[in-house]
Amino acid sequence: MRSLDDLLAEGVAGRRVLVRSDLNVPLDTTTRAITDDGRIRASLPTLQALRDAGARVLVTSHLGRPQGAPDPQYSLAPVAARLGELLGTPVPLAGDVAGDDARARVEALGDGDVLLLENVRFEAGETSKDDAERGALADRLATLADAYVDDAFGAVHRRHASVHDVALRLPHVAGRLVARELEVLGRLTTDPERPYVVVLGGSKVSDKLAVIEALLPKVDRLLVGGGMCFTFLRAQGHGVGGSLLEEDQVETCRRLLAEAGDRIVLPLDVVCAADLGADVQTTVVPVDAIPDDLKGLDVGPRTVEAFGRELGGARTVFWNGPMGVFELAPFQAGTRGVAEAVAAVDGLSVVGGGDSAAAVRQLGLDEASYGHISTGGGASLEYLEGRELPGLAVLADRGEG
Ligand code: ADP
Ligand code: MG
Repeated sequence: MRSLDDLLAEGVAGRRVLVRSDLNVPLDTTTRAITDDGRIRASLPTLQALRDAGARVLVTSHLGRPQGAPDPQYSLAPVAARLGELLGTPVPLAGDVAGDDARARVEALGDGDVLLLENVRFEAGETSKDDAERGALADRLATLADAYVDDAFGAVHRRHASVHDVALRLPHVAGRLVARELEVLGRLTTDPERPYVVVLGGSKVSDKLAVIEALLPKVDRLLVGGGMCFTFLRAQGHGVGGSLLEEDQVETCRRLLAEAGDRIVLPLDVVCAADLGADVQTTVVPVDAIPDDLKGLDVGPRTVEAFGRELGGARTVFWNGPMGVFELAPFQAGTRGVAEAVAAVDGLSVVGGGDSAAAVRQLGLDEASYGHISTGGGASLEYLEGRELPGLAVLADRGEG
């Protein structure tokens, strides 16, 4: 896999370089203001290095899940503005992905300038399962540029036109962020220092069962919180009230508990409420006494203590997925407690996942106390599963284009 430095060594002054960044930041649902700009900041080292070297930089990214057609609520306009502030230079936004406006604006770029292309998911070809449809979009993107840099770690597990197909059409290298992510995740997969503890939370078990299966043989402890813990608790025979439950995954959870129950650590207590809200009444109950009319929305204090003990002795930790609905104050404590325990780990601590990384920042924890905060949730999980990631596989060859 070639690096950004390899490309810079060839000389990029005056060349058009297409960078796939992951600028998929969370936006406030009403004001459309960026609520966490971590991914934009993570994209800066690659963009700045290219600017400094005199490249004409075109950036492509997705934002949210528009349905393959332009949709103003998913415009990258707020991102262009923030990126410009952070780079200290205006970053214009093309009116389309790879159409007439993008082409005209690329023509007008000077050395060191940066242009952001509009949300690549405004094109149905981006996420299409059809090779020809993706290829047609990749062709249009490729004609805009002379070289391609993949820096969108959060998207490398997708076989999407801007991540996979365009790399087949241009000389390609991995950007600084992708290189850094691979270095750290590599340390988790090859010979991690023990005890190795993984903490998983978040909302959907079905998203994470594959990673649980792949990691169970490798870890010393797997701590499970978040919405996904209720499917495990159900598998143990507990009632879970109105909590998130994936009925069709109960059997799999039961099998995992039978196979590796000594390594899977489940919550002891949960914070319940009748509904979600910023000032609702909550009650803490043991996991075998969740009332039928309540929902479990965070792990309780005894769980935080128990998870903290496991993390206290760990030398390698990977954490993905909030322990509760941390977006709302009454359900923050579990995520805060685990985030603090992970920060205190004496060894390598890695946080993966968009919401988990946002939680760290939103709760005011010091990012520097973690070994690494990954920008990719799904991508880091699939990497740890040992799966081949389409966006990395295409970078693996020499990349002469
Ligand atoms: P990440 O982006 O870090 O990979 P996920 O996307 O898997 O994390 O999950 C994050 C979401 O899970 C958050 O929005 C959070 O509110 C939700 N969540 C966590 N615990 C619960 C719960 N007990 N009930 C419902 N949702 C939950
Ligand atoms: Mg998420």
